[in-house]
Amino acid sequence: MLKSFVSAKCSATQLTRSGLLILISLSLLSSCGRSPGVYYEQFLGFGTLIEVKIWGVDEKTGRQAVAAITDDINYMHQTWHAWKPGSLSRINQLLPTEEFFSIGPSVIPLIRRGSELAELSGNRFNPAIGQLIKLWGFASDELPKGPPPSATAIQELLDQKPGMQDLILDGVQLKTSNPAVRLDFGGFAKGYAVDIAIEHLKELGITNAIVNAGGDLRAIGKHGERAWRVGIRNPSGEGVLASVDTLVDESIFTSGDYERYYEYQGKRYHHIIDPHSGYPARGVTSVTVFDSQADRADAAATALFVAGVDEWYQVAKAMGVNGVMLVTADGTIHMTPNLKDRVYFDIKPAPKIIYSEPLE
Ligand code: AMP
Ligand code: MG
Repeated sequence: MLKSFVSAKCSATQLTRSGLLILISLSLLSSCGRSPGVYYEQFLGFGTLIEVKIWGVDEKTGRQAVAAITDDINYMHQTWHAWKPGSLSRINQLLPTEEFFSIGPSVIPLIRRGSELAELSGNRFNPAIGQLIKLWGFASDELPKGPPPSATAIQELLDQKPGMQDLILDGVQLKTSNPAVRLDFGGFAKGYAVDIAIEHLKELGITNAIVNAGGDLRAIGKHGERAWRVGIRNPSGEGVLASVDTLVDESIFTSGDYERYYEYQGKRYHHIIDPHSGYPARGVTSVTVFDSQADRADAAATALFVAGVDEWYQVAKAMGVNGVMLVTADGTIHMTPNLKDRVYFDIKPAPKIIYSEPLE
């Protein structure tokens, strides 16, 4: 198992656009996000800052629990990475042969779950479009600079219609009938990993915790007598758009056009690609999904971003998620009514909110 994480206890950490890591050590305990009764630790994983908060445990229990999930997360990140050497990059090398080959067992559940979620989303979430993501330059640590790919190159890939349904899995043997398929699990691997981390914490007897991977999180239990309160990033600028009191087991995942992008001749090209048009999805700046399962919340946030203002509601219903908050390019917020009583907006002036029909 790879042990390459940087223990960033008590550090303010951010990833710059070029992917360079800046660690600024801070000596004040208060800046670590600690509050009384909470064991707090942070480390780097999945290319982001991972924060773990556990309520009501002693230091030793907290430290052991975080060490266990740090190992899990580093292993998963290496195994499922789309372009760094590991199980998935080997799969991507062998898929174009159209012959059966053996794959690492840890990738199998990801392929199965990815296929299920892709189907539910009507292929708006499509982890088989690895070639398209690479063509746009996002299969790299460095952000591309442009120009965007040619319309002809995009169309050539679209014409081959790669999808998870083109994969044939027989035990540990995998092949595809479509040589254009390349896997990129960037749209839901973090959610899948957060689920595994939370399950691991539960097995260790921990019932009140948050695993927060760069703003995407799953919370279980409570913070003492009250709910865990978490923030949702403002897609148009720094700071927090809203705070949320979480349910007793809830995942909150956001996809945004501000996360990875480049500008070329005044236009923003971001990393969420509409598999039907072949271009970055337009019209939405962020989508936050609330659900009991982190993997589904993550896949759904990507899918609803692609679905846009007109289709998000029907796709959310099909995927079976619990709640949605979508921010359009003009700052209007579309939201499911079940979130009304526990989402608190922190921005001024107050945003325009349009409530949808309930999802159930
Ligand atoms: P997220 O931030 O969860 O929305 O994931 C974005 C990442 O998912 C991108 O960086 C790509 O690696 C991948 N991706 C982009 N578009 C799609 C899509 N339509 N379906 C599945 N994965 C995608
Ligand atoms: Mg996602």
